[in-house]
Amino acid sequence: MKTTLRTGITVAQICEGFVYNELEGKGLFGLAGKLTIQPEYQRNYIYAKENREVAVIESILKGYPLGLFYFNTVTENGEKRFEVLDGQQRITSIGRFLTGKFAIQDSNGMQQYFSGLPGDLQEKIRNTVLLIYECEGEESEIKEWFKTINIAGIPLNQQEINNAVYCGEFVTRAKEEFSNSQNANVTKWRAYIRGDVYRQAFLAVALQWVSAAKGTDVGSYMSAHRHDKDINELKTYFCSVIDWINSIFTDVESEMCGLEWNRLYETYHTTAYNPQEVHRKVQELYADPYVKNRRGVFEYVLGGCTDTKLLDVRVFDEATKKAVYKQQTAAAQAAGKSNCPLCCLGHDSSRKLWDLKDMDADHVTAWSKGGATDISNYQMLCKSHNRAKGNR
Ligand SMILES: [Zn+2]
Repeated sequence: MKTTLRTGITVAQICEGFVYNELEGKGLFGLAGKLTIQPEYQRNYIYAKENREVAVIESILKGYPLGLFYFNTVTENGEKRFEVLDGQQRITSIGRFLTGKFAIQDSNGMQQYFSGLPGDLQEKIRNTVLLIYECEGEESEIKEWFKTINIAGIPLNQQEINNAVYCGEFVTRAKEEFSNSQNANVTKWRAYIRGDVYRQAFLAVALQWVSAAKGTDVGSYMSAHRHDKDINELKTYFCSVIDWINSIFTDVESEMCGLEWNRLYETYHTTAYNPQEVHRKVQELYADPYVKNRRGVFEYVLGGCTDTKLLDVRVFDEATKKAVYKQQTAAAQAAGKSNCPLCCLGHDSSRKLWDLKDMDADHVTAWSKGGATDISNYQMLCKSHNRAKGNR
């Protein structure tokens, strides 16, 4: 990887064409449009709250070092562009001050905006040189490099790193769609996808889904599409999955959030469902106190209500188990038969009295076939017969 230390770029150059987005709370561009300041990482602009942005300006006025800045260099269509890897908040602070977004206190305790400062102080700020490392390299090198630096004190997550490594038109467009808190769809997506839009959670999921469907991984997908001018495939696949969920499940339950919806889509999207029937079934299972795993309800219904393992149906508690065992064993002893009703039907163990630890609880009529989960529908079976009976 090529790293070049630049010592000649001034605050004035960095802030040329500075754009600050009030809604998103972040600095967007600088260096006359050649520098992308913040969209890659989509952090909220946290300096403002902590008054640290004033400290950045005071450091400049006092001639204190501002520290190093790291820019990632991308050459696109023969033109060099830069992305701020480290220093986003410092640059945003400087840009905000130069564009009159906040004031500092002067030596007389007066609030001063940039435009109100004496000319020599304005010039001092504008001519301050930043120490900038321009980094240029192969994807693998930049990835490696990311591992060795800790950016802005908050470690980047995998998607944030991928966005930097594969930065380009595709990532920019993908973020406009999936990492944009102003996008009205984000609210809808939150029902099914967990995570923070600022930390790229929705983009990460959208990319995971489409790359899985294409039989590849996110890194390879992003690399292959890096210079695409559109995100049609990514967006289309994502919307197919979301629309499919909406078309089948009319209810939005909190347990739907974070399920492997792309897997469910791939498995079941060619099956026809009646949304009203699905709704009735989901509500019934939600009302069933024996369903322990509500997150499994949706796949259970999609799969035709057969795989009860998904629901983790509650079995009887130990006290009830002991009571039934006692009753069953006493009756078996009196009749000279095995305390396992199924052993009674056979030859080998027809008189065997099993210990409690060698028996398991069983519903006489399986739960999935409508059997009640109360004591009248409950028996103890020896372990091998219980296993053989299966389907509880
Ligand atoms: Zn048995």
